[in-house]
Amino acid sequence: MILDIIQYPDPRLTQRAVELTELTDEIRTLVSDMAETMYAARGGGLAAPQVGRAVRLIMVDASGPDERNDLRVFINPRLTVLDPTPVEDEEGCLSVPFNYRAPVSRVTGVAVDALDMDWNPVHVEAEGLLAVCLQHELDHLEGTVFLDHVSRLKRMLFDTRIKKWLRRNSP
Ligand SMILES: [Zn+2]
Repeated sequence: MILDIIQYPDPRLTQRAVELTELTDEIRTLVSDMAETMYAARGGGLAAPQVGRAVRLIMVDASGPDERNDLRVFINPRLTVLDPTPVEDEEGCLSVPFNYRAPVSRVTGVAVDALDMDWNPVHVEAEGLLAVCLQHELDHLEGTVFLDHVSRLKRMLFDTRIKKWLRRNSP
């Protein structure tokens, strides 16, 4: 089932997500619905808070963009910085309207320890696009969106645009 993706500035995007304590059928369904939702939206990553579930579950697929076939699911993920060298690239987010993209500074190398879809421990070390995706999705679990990392001026201009849009589209 394709789920609704919550859009900025919805306050649910600013909440800290809680750990999952067990693998239930409900979580299995959430994982499969989130994957369907992410692929339908042609996104490279999705975090549970983006579909209104404040739990520590993220998924990324850094393959593509034409064909995505590398789904990775992380439950209760913990991030460690392996290479703190800053790297800047443009990011967008399925929860940020207008397909808005802006440069964000991230670290080059990270490791993520988590549980997979079968509740087995996984350890992934990543650089490049995958490392950026992981940092972006982990941020959602802390209630952070990439807009929180862009320059104050860019953020102000974007918020003004959103406010105008919301005014025009409110009943
Ligand atoms: Zn995002």
